[in-house]
Amino acid sequence: MGVKPGPRIAIIGGGWAGLACALALRRHGPRLDVFEASPLWGGRARAAHVRLADREVTLDCGQHLLVGAYRACLAQIAELGPDTAAKLRRQRLRLVSSAGLDLRRLALPGRAGLGAGLLLARGLSVAEKLAALRLMASLGASDWRPPGAIASVAELLAAHRQPHRLVRRLWEPLCIGALNTAPEEACAASFAAVLRDTLGGPADASDFLLPTAPLADLLSTPAVDSLREAGVGLHPTHPVASVVPEDGGWRLVMRGARLGPDHRYDHVVIATDPLAAARLVDPLDAGCAQQLAGFGFTPIATVYLGWHEPVSLPPAIMLDEDREAGSPGQWLFDRGRQAELRIGAIVISARDRVGDLDAQALGAATAAQVSRQLRLPPPAGIRVLTEQRATWRCTADRPRLAIDALADGAPGVWLAGDYLEDDYPATLESAIRCGRRTAGLISTAILAGSPSGAGQGGAPQTVW
Ligand SMILES: Cc1cc2nc3c(=O)[nH]c(=O)nc-3n(C[C@H](O)[C@H](O)[C@H](O)COP(=O)(O)OP(=O)(O)OC[C@H]3O[C@@H](n4cnc5c(N)ncnc54)[C@H](O)[C@@H]3O)c2cc1C
Repeated sequence: MGVKPGPRIAIIGGGWAGLACALALRRHGPRLDVFEASPLWGGRARAAHVRLADREVTLDCGQHLLVGAYRACLAQIAELGPDTAAKLRRQRLRLVSSAGLDLRRLALPGRAGLGAGLLLARGLSVAEKLAALRLMASLGASDWRPPGAIASVAELLAAHRQPHRLVRRLWEPLCIGALNTAPEEACAASFAAVLRDTLGGPADASDFLLPTAPLADLLSTPAVDSLREAGVGLHPTHPVASVVPEDGGWRLVMRGARLGPDHRYDHVVIATDPLAAARLVDPLDAGCAQQLAGFGFTPIATVYLGWHEPVSLPPAIMLDEDREAGSPGQWLFDRGRQAELRIGAIVISARDRVGDLDAQALGAATAAQVSRQLRLPPPAGIRVLTEQRATWRCTADRPRLAIDALADGAPGVWLAGDYLEDDYPATLESAIRCGRRTAGLISTAILAGSPSGAGQGGAPQTVW
């Protein structure tokens, strides 16, 4: 009697969500395939090979910051090896800005370190410090859930009478940095969830983890190596055009070509951004596709500056953003040395607020701002990378979907991605969490012997 072959699984999308899902399912080895449209793995956290000041350097398509609260993300990186985890430099929270703010979390247990740090902070008046503490205490007392009537971060700050300068110096940069959405539009519940897990979390939760290498070295490259070793089928440059039902399972149709007859899958994970997912889902469940298409997007620009001469860059500093005065930069991160260049990365979240400055003008304005505010010589090279669909716009009325949103219309087809973690904004953490959760639901369905896991009952199997 022959042994029934195990289920076949396809993952569409090799960003951090798709790769985390694949890692959690890698025991399926050659019965698991990952298809990625681009030649590069990593999605919105992929590497970028650029020319800066006449040198070839490898950077990221956009500068990223990780924080201590990224538990799933850090666990995934650590699981890939100690060498990988060593590529993150951990630093206790210190918000230093060129406008004079200096706020550190002190080495005290729990939230005491933040409270004491706020009281001792420079660049805030006593009234501003007390207002910030009042907001944190009030959110903590309400289990970090703002009242339903408060939709936006601006409304939340107004309801807690946060002084204008405190908003400008602290809350607005944190909101735009974390949610990539301006406070007037940004979702108050998501901002509260970020504060809960970082400033309101355990002492190490608000630590900054600064990548000292391209992000690809932290996750996508070691993940792909590990998947290859497990015999998983890896298919870069394979854009999937559609998912069609076949023999009680699913067949993937590639853009331009069709996969061979052995490519019928029991489970398909659509691990793309929501708009790409909408296109794939439309023929399967038009209602779900309509929801996916309801996400808006906000661009982020990263301005890389390169100096030939030795310059002293802080590891991370908030810049004094003032768009009217021609200072668009928000944060600067030290990217260390490469090809005999000292490189700094300046982040401009919610890039659309800067208006229609072209890349050259944006780069020049940012370089001038950095020279002025940090007293640095002009850089030898400037390179601007803009991701138009960097993150979905984190508003209160964004669509909310579940990983198994297709369970009725297309059982066996699952969603994964940074947009499925309820409160959380678009982050590497939400991508990893979701990728692992999707893998857990598929494992449960496989155990239950049904495409959607229906009838199994109980909690999804934990696979990590
Ligand atoms: C400039 C920038 C700065 C950011 N800064 C931060 C930060 O500081 N901290 C943080 O936590 N997060 C940050 N983010 C957000 C973070 O990068 C994303 O939330 C995360 O990478 C999303 O991962 P994902 O796997 O859900 O989606 P994606 O990374 O979008 O992956 C989806 C993949 O699917 C592929 N794909 C799409 N359609 C198809 C198809 N038809 N067939 C096959 N493949 C397909 C795409 O090519 C892509 O590789 C930033 C993002 C950007 C762009």
